[in-house]
Amino acid sequence: MTAQPSPTRVLVLNSGSSSVKYQLLDMSDGSRLATGLVERIGEDSSARLKHTPLGTGEGGGESREWNGPIADHETALKAVAEQLAKDGLGLDSPELAAIGHRVVHGGKSFTEPTVVDESVLAEIERLIPVAPLHNPANLTGIRTARALRPDLPQVAVFDTAFHTTMPESAARYAIDVRTADEHRVRRYGFHGTSHAYVSRATAKLLGKAPEDVNVIVLHLGNGASASAVRGGKCVDTSMGLTPLEGLVMGTRSGDMDPAVIFHLARVGGMSIDEIDTLLNKRSGLIGLCGDNDMREIRRRIDEGDEQAQLAFDIYIHRLKKYIGAYYAVLGRVDAVAFTAGVGENAAPVRAAAVAGLEELGLTVDDGLNAVRADEARLISPAGARVAVAVVPTDEELEIATQTYALVGQ
Ligand code: ADP
Repeated sequence: MTAQPSPTRVLVLNSGSSSVKYQLLDMSDGSRLATGLVERIGEDSSARLKHTPLGTGEGGGESREWNGPIADHETALKAVAEQLAKDGLGLDSPELAAIGHRVVHGGKSFTEPTVVDESVLAEIERLIPVAPLHNPANLTGIRTARALRPDLPQVAVFDTAFHTTMPESAARYAIDVRTADEHRVRRYGFHGTSHAYVSRATAKLLGKAPEDVNVIVLHLGNGASASAVRGGKCVDTSMGLTPLEGLVMGTRSGDMDPAVIFHLARVGGMSIDEIDTLLNKRSGLIGLCGDNDMREIRRRIDEGDEQAQLAFDIYIHRLKKYIGAYYAVLGRVDAVAFTAGVGENAAPVRAAAVAGLEELGLTVDDGLNAVRADEARLISPAGARVAVAVVPTDEELEIATQTYALVGQ
């Protein structure tokens, strides 16, 4: 009898409140077999499913779209399974090794990717008060996938896990300890999967082991966060109890005096929910200039728009403060790595963020910075004391890698 080959495929699911993003990867070589997205789940308007098989065979690379009502995550996942099955990649395939789920908040409990069982589900549920928008959607995704393939290992990969190595001096807020502990108020950090992947990829770019390098990672997407990574371990990050803290983001304020909240409530007559919406959805770049897309902001700046220029300047000022702060936290910095939508694509942001920091060994070569490429690359001049790099993030590959490491044979 011939032995069955070990399954090598991992389906990565990122379940949001009204969306599911997915990728199917083959971990024998890290290749992508299919990718897709379901949007507007449960909304009155019809939902959209976009599926792209990526194999080299017939139909490879050609997207299929489907529009129609999708009532809930269960229906969405069934529709995804149907699309995958059309390409011979169905959830019932014996080649599927596991499903890896992005889970936003793992609190202090989850320091590593974890195979899901009832107790893991209960703990993710217990963390809902600190992640009311994300954890319920992540839980629904896991439960639905489990119902579809109860025999298959499901692995939760937490956005917070990479940051659990932060020392207490960085993780605690300077507030009454008992109150903080009672309500689990501390700095957890997010985007951890990206910070983990990018810090390791940066070490690789430098030809070194992660243990031997100190990196400042700047994850600049619509959400944005910085982290200080010493020898492969996170020692500080800019997001806190929630993703609101830290850098100026697309729609979030980032750092500010917490008394702004009391002032807006007492003097402005705003409710807590209104202030929550203001700071998370109507602040940051969009609050400052009406646009949160860096491309549009740069276009307006080129046309002489002062409001867009001010928004850009505030964004850069905060970014620079974090580079300086994390330089001090790390003591020695080997590399600064830019990643995510803005970090990977916006050369003017990268140039402005390190402008004037030559004394710290930080400079970019304008020619290298202007090059557009999909690969990790250095943009600092040869021989620079600190490497400045652009390192495309790949959260799905990282989730699949962590999942497969846990369940693959
Ligand atoms: P998220 O995953 O947080 O939604 P992304 O990492 O995909 O975000 O980043 C999205 C942001 O990247 C956009 O809002 C836009 O500001 C920025 N972006 C994308 N492409 C470019 C580009 N070519 N030039 C400048 N900024 C870009």
